[in-house]
Amino acid sequence: MAKKENKVSLKEVFILNYKGFKIINKYCPGMFLSDFLHAAVSSVVPYVGIYLSALIINELSGNRNQEKLTSLIIITLITTLVLAILQGILSRWSNSKKNTYYYSFLKIFSDKMFSMDYEDLDSQKMQDLKSQIMQNNQWNAWGLGRIRYSFEQLIKSVFGILSAVVLTISLFTTSVPDSAGAFTLLNNPLFILLIIGIILLTTFLAPAFSNKADSYWVKLSEYMKMGNRFFGYFGFFAVDNSDRALDIRIYEQNNLAYSYIKENGSYNKFSFGAIFARGPQGIYNALSGAVSKLSLFFIYLFVCLKAWAGAFGIGSVTQYVGAVTSLSGNISMLVQFIGSMKNNTPFMRTVFEYLERENKMYQGSLTTEKRNDRKYNVEFKNVSFKYPGSDIYALKNVSVKFEVGKRLAVVGMNGSGKTTFIKLLCRLYDPEEGEILLNGINIKKYNYDEYMKIFSVVFQDYKLLARPLAENVAASCDYDENLVYDSLNKAGFGERLKEFPKGINTFLYKNWDKEGVEVSGGEAQKIAIARALYKDAPFIILDEPTAALDPIAEAEIYSKFNEIVGDKTAIYISHRLSSCKFCDEIMVFDNGNIIEKGGHEELLGNRNKYYELWNAQAQYYV
Ligand code: ADP
Repeated sequence: MAKKENKVSLKEVFILNYKGFKIINKYCPGMFLSDFLHAAVSSVVPYVGIYLSALIINELSGNRNQEKLTSLIIITLITTLVLAILQGILSRWSNSKKNTYYYSFLKIFSDKMFSMDYEDLDSQKMQDLKSQIMQNNQWNAWGLGRIRYSFEQLIKSVFGILSAVVLTISLFTTSVPDSAGAFTLLNNPLFILLIIGIILLTTFLAPAFSNKADSYWVKLSEYMKMGNRFFGYFGFFAVDNSDRALDIRIYEQNNLAYSYIKENGSYNKFSFGAIFARGPQGIYNALSGAVSKLSLFFIYLFVCLKAWAGAFGIGSVTQYVGAVTSLSGNISMLVQFIGSMKNNTPFMRTVFEYLERENKMYQGSLTTEKRNDRKYNVEFKNVSFKYPGSDIYALKNVSVKFEVGKRLAVVGMNGSGKTTFIKLLCRLYDPEEGEILLNGINIKKYNYDEYMKIFSVVFQDYKLLARPLAENVAASCDYDENLVYDSLNKAGFGERLKEFPKGINTFLYKNWDKEGVEVSGGEAQKIAIARALYKDAPFIILDEPTAALDPIAEAEIYSKFNEIVGDKTAIYISHRLSSCKFCDEIMVFDNGNIIEKGGHEELLGNRNKYYELWNAQAQYYV
């Protein structure tokens, strides 16, 4: 529920929303400029109409000079036409810019995600922040979206106020003639001040009530965020979760999801949202509506009394009523804008807590040597590492030197540190103690993108895209066809490829093409291996590369392993010890330590952990 820290100062309102404005403007250049011009012209147009039609009506109800009337009508027509064309052009420009907004919005966050330390990306806190930002945006365009929508409101109201003031001044300066008797009271400056006061008061009160009503959304935000997340998960559980479809049917999980949602209570009639809507929020909204009508009453009263007393003609009545009504509306809009920015401030805090998260990992700038002989020496020197927030060493004092061009197998029980070892090698995390060296230089000193060029990795939880096979293999829209075929053949996908209706241009999955092919887990794994081969980096790392393969496909990969790996340095993580036999060296992890290292026969002879693991599996094959 609402927190004290939701209190915001005007300075903070300004700083955060201005920063939001700047970042949107950077990602979506021209959008605010087009909005500005469009809103400015649109807000002036009605006043031009009001002014010109007042002149015509005054002439019609006064002198009725035909020549003057004709020229007034021609001026009105031409002005209206020119303004309509200008408005149309600006509207087209601003709409086309607006259409790119959502893409820019997502780009702001995806750029941050790509540049963030992996440690943060992986952290619950940052994931929470990002999902809150996305939910706030979807919920009521809170956050950056609010700035984008409110900017137009600001410009329209400022220009509207200026134009209306220009048209309204004479309402107060034109005097009722002395012949009007008691009505001359309307000329009294005090009376004028009183009327202006009442109009301004009602004008400010209406949006103030409406902002107060809106502030209940902010009060609800904490509570609704949880509710939204809950609903986002369970509400759509059975709708767009084809990968859960089997479980949902067999275990009727849809009923479970439904009961969770009912219990959660964010959306039922006893929820805070419903209570607020029935109670204070509803009352403030009603007050806002009532007060704005009250202001209209005073405007009509004052203008009509002055006209009745003979201060101006009938045409001016339309001008003044129109102008003062708009003035009041525009002031309300401005107050509403300020309130909306104020209410938006807690949401902007979340946005910038995420976007301004500093990277702690040192970013080096060295380029890696370009070596045709692929002689990149990588070494772990007394490396120890704990995951953030954990007291347990995931790796402890690990030292290993990769022999160029050799195949190294990494084995060990679940949780022994194998994947952590690879994550450190890929610099997703930095060691807490010790260092990792590339050709004798700490890997932190290299430019990260450069450093990653020397690795091809097939992670266990690799992901393919619902795009053509070739693009998946090349990880790009431009590719070398021969290399794509070659990589797929090496990865053992050649036979299956023959069945693909459009060869390497066949879409994977049916999301975008009904002729797309659904590939099995094993086939997908082969494509992921082909992708790593296409990259042709000096190091190839395969994390459980055959986990989803059937025994025959697995044997096929092993038999081709030398061909697959070629002259690369290979690191091969596997649970299946039989698959490590053809590696030059085997490293056994246990509790974050390397406890054994050597060839297959040598390790069996040691009768230690490797021997134990080998026998545990071997008994099933005897
Ligand atoms: P393996 O790949 O051998 O199964 P891991 O390298 O994944 O083992 O895990 C090593 C240890 O680190 C385990 O104790 C595991 O629970 C812990 N661990 C792995 N990932 C994380 C993480 N993101 N946060 C905290 N602890 C982790």
